[in-house]
Amino acid sequence: MEKQRLDRFLSNQLNISRNTVRTGIKNKMAQVNGTTVNDCTVSINVNYDVVEYCGKRVAYKKFIYLVMNKPSGIITASNDKSRQTVLDLVPESLRRKGLAPVGRLDKDTTGLLILTDNGDFAHKCISPKSNIEKVYLAELDGEINQDIIYEFANGVVLADGYKCKPAKLQKIDKVNVRITVTEGKYHQIKRMFGAVGLGVNKLHREAVGGLSIPSNLKAGECAEMTESDLNGCFADILSVLDKRPL
Ligand code: URA
Repeated sequence: MEKQRLDRFLSNQLNISRNTVRTGIKNKMAQVNGTTVNDCTVSINVNYDVVEYCGKRVAYKKFIYLVMNKPSGIITASNDKSRQTVLDLVPESLRRKGLAPVGRLDKDTTGLLILTDNGDFAHKCISPKSNIEKVYLAELDGEINQDIIYEFANGVVLADGYKCKPAKLQKIDKVNVRITVTEGKYHQIKRMFGAVGLGVNKLHREAVGGLSIPSNLKAGECAEMTESDLNGCFADILSVLDKRPL
């Protein structure tokens, strides 16, 4: 049974400052189980109490998990002085304190990016030990052959001597390939192809851990993952973390 102070609960769930919330509570904007409460310090049960603020129900979510269709030209960072970041694309209603991208896509890479305020989940998702598959479509400046497919399957050796974990490489046409990896080192895919003499013209992430971009999600948009997305695609991670992801 998790208890929280009313002002903390509202500030966290609505992503508004504690001071703004306190003023709102004092101005009778908050109700708990149908009763107006003007004491900010009141303790609520986050799972059972019905909390309303400005006339709207405030549902409790322990964490938030977003799936973004990252466009090209945006950096994967939480904040930057001069450049637009993926966080800038998140609508106000989905922002939470601590929300951060899970791993990194290069500025020119497009596709699936997860964002969450659950740091433990993010850590597990990125860790090569978790063996979470990341699937990319790459447009190359040359053609792959069977030798390259074998080399990737055995673990291609990067220019700095690092031997990658085995990767699946599937030819789509002359220059387009699908590549599946279970690790995410800096510029991993570009460096893997670089190691066999090929350049990457375009890179798009199709899926992470079986989760793909919802078909209606346009470039630059993001949506909240459902509990079934999480349990379906990240069951292994969640089984070692909190059983209740949301
Ligand atoms: N590998 C890369 O080289 N770039 C990305 O953005 C992601 C994986």
